[in-house]
Amino acid sequence: LYNQVQDLKGNIRVYCRVRPFLSNQSDTKSTVDHIGENGNIMIINPHKQGKDARKIFSFNKVFGANTTQGEVFADTQPLIRSVMDGYNVCIFAYGQTGSGKTHTMSGPDIKTEETWGVNYRALNDLFNISKSRTSVLTYDISVQMIEIYNEQVRDLLVADGSNRRYPFQVQLCLVSVNCTEDVLELMKVGQGNRAVGATALNERSSRSHSVLTIHVQGKELVSGSIVRGCLHLVDLAGSERVDKSEATGERLKEAQHINRSLSALGDVIFALAQKSSHIPYRNSKLTQVLQDALGGQAKTLMFVHINPEINSFGETISTLKFAERVSSI
Ligand code: ADP
Ligand code: MG
Repeated sequence: LYNQVQDLKGNIRVYCRVRPFLSNQSDTKSTVDHIGENGNIMIINPHKQGKDARKIFSFNKVFGANTTQGEVFADTQPLIRSVMDGYNVCIFAYGQTGSGKTHTMSGPDIKTEETWGVNYRALNDLFNISKSRTSVLTYDISVQMIEIYNEQVRDLLVADGSNRRYPFQVQLCLVSVNCTEDVLELMKVGQGNRAVGATALNERSSRSHSVLTIHVQGKELVSGSIVRGCLHLVDLAGSERVDKSEATGERLKEAQHINRSLSALGDVIFALAQKSSHIPYRNSKLTQVLQDALGGQAKTLMFVHINPEINSFGETISTLKFAERVSSI
């Protein structure tokens, strides 16, 4: 089945995606010197000369600035399909604010299918598989949407979902869906709830993690046996380091929560890649919420995003270092 292909490659993989320069940018000198066929990316330090200026990082795959949404999805699809066979999968988008995380996960515009990100393509694919298997299995598909802000979990599918104490007390809202349109509708609701009380949606979204979870349950018609899988699609908070001397009050608190939870996520994936006997799930809300889908038979895909601009060089290097640490290749 779909899973067999994946088993050969291990349970944790890291893809790097380079954002293109945007149309309004005049200075298009890039820190990306070269991208190899084999998952290598060469970064050039704008402040150095000679061979010391270049550094190579290796991942499972590197997508250059011209890669289309469809091409990115094609390399993600087998993993997503394994959910239909009962596997748990987490897909993360990591990177500094403005590096293309939301572009990869959702895309720039829901209305144009061609630019759809992984989210919508994944849902379409799952519904299509469900339809193609109706003679052998019936599937129930349902979704959850949460946001984690300052270590507080907020259910985005209920209007006043703030301060829920997931996963210990309150059950999160789980909504049954029959087609991609249902999900698009729900995601609009979720995005609306996300904006409540926030200064500006964009500001807020760069400082919180958003998790769209798709639960799949299939029942075999003949045997009656059940397969269960889930897919977590996670658009992480911006990974940029905030200048401690400048950030104060709320901004500092947010930055500390983000730094801590991203490190906790890195630690968990690193421990899994090392096959360590202790996996430190309890160090952040994010890793607690995703615990069942990290480790064991579950599969993890980390998309790390690079902004190629010269003035992002420092953030690019720390992003690539984070990625290299969690990558088991
Ligand atoms: P993030 O979510 O990491 O803050 P965004 O996904 O919002 O970043 O991307 C920042 C800007 O760059 C947006 O205007 C987005 O449309 C654009 N962008 C990002 N990645 C790409 C890409 N691969 N192709 C074209 N435009 C992109
Ligand atoms: Mg974003």
